[in-house]
Amino acid sequence: RAKAAGPGGWAVYEQGMHTRALARLRLETDLRRALDQGRISVHYQPIVHLASGRITGMEALARWRHPERGWVPPAEFIACAEETGLILRLGRHVLDTACAQLGAWSAVLPAAGELSVSVNVSVRQFAQAELADQVKMALERGGVAPGRLRLEITESVLMDAGGDAPAVLGRLRSLGAATWMDDFGTGFSSLSALHRLPMDGVKVDRSFLAEDEARGAPVLAAIAGLARGLGLQTVAEGVETPAQLDRVRALGCDHAQGYLISPALDAEAMLALLAQDRRW
Ligand code: C2E
Ligand code: MG
Ligand code: MG
Ligand code: MG
Repeated sequence: RAKAAGPGGWAVYEQGMHTRALARLRLETDLRRALDQGRISVHYQPIVHLASGRITGMEALARWRHPERGWVPPAEFIACAEETGLILRLGRHVLDTACAQLGAWSAVLPAAGELSVSVNVSVRQFAQAELADQVKMALERGGVAPGRLRLEITESVLMDAGGDAPAVLGRLRSLGAATWMDDFGTGFSSLSALHRLPMDGVKVDRSFLAEDEARGAPVLAAIAGLARGLGLQTVAEGVETPAQLDRVRALGCDHAQGYLISPALDAEAMLALLAQDRRW
């Protein structure tokens, strides 16, 4: 702590702040340049339909390989993009790329015609009036049927949007796209919000799997049961072990996503995985 550092302590403290501010500015400049140069890529993490054991969808995740720093964690650059507004460009790039990629896969892999792609929508995008038009355009350009796109919005974003959330979700759904609540269980939404919002499914946060089974399982079972009762689909996030896969299946989740199945892969590796047509 700066004060405890005695004479000169504040100087050290200010220097620390200065260094952080510089690093932050540097990150923003580099991220802007990466967007300008098309160096933000999109990777895809498979989602398995538990009843059939097949991959029926995938989540598009932004990836950035910095020329000097190597891979930058999304937690870091997404936060920076959110703070600076660059997320509007980044989000649109991921949306366009994911739809174009799904269209391209469908042309080479017959079974890919059934796959869905999930795209994360940030708080700023959600508040933007142009979002629905951008979604419509991305689908048209990719030649993708709207029902194959799932838009993931975190629970906290939906809660912050308050009274506007149902209208925005409704517009997206009227295009034919599916709306999903991401990281469900981490925010403060009342369960009743689930049935008031026009949504197609919930992604159950991986924290319930990470907890020991005796504590996590009842919560997962309750969420899966509630979702089913409301006609919502579920994806269990963060499945890392065979035991966890068995558990989410037994507890009645519809889909699973996690490192056990695969981490996010580049488009080429994802196509190779799809071509294997493996069952989990
Ligand atoms: P998210 O949307 O909840 O995405 C799932 C995250 O969980 C991904 O992290 C994924 O790699 C990670 N994950 C998947 N399976 C496992 C597992 O078995 N164990 C563990 N420990 N983690 C697993 P990632 O790619 O680092 O992204 C983190 C977050 O950054 C995302 O969370 C999302 O909120 C945000 N993000 C990533 N790409 C985008 C994007 O294009 N737009 C927006 N708005 N946000 C994005
Ligand atoms: Mg997500
Ligand atoms: Mg999530
Ligand atoms: Mg998450």
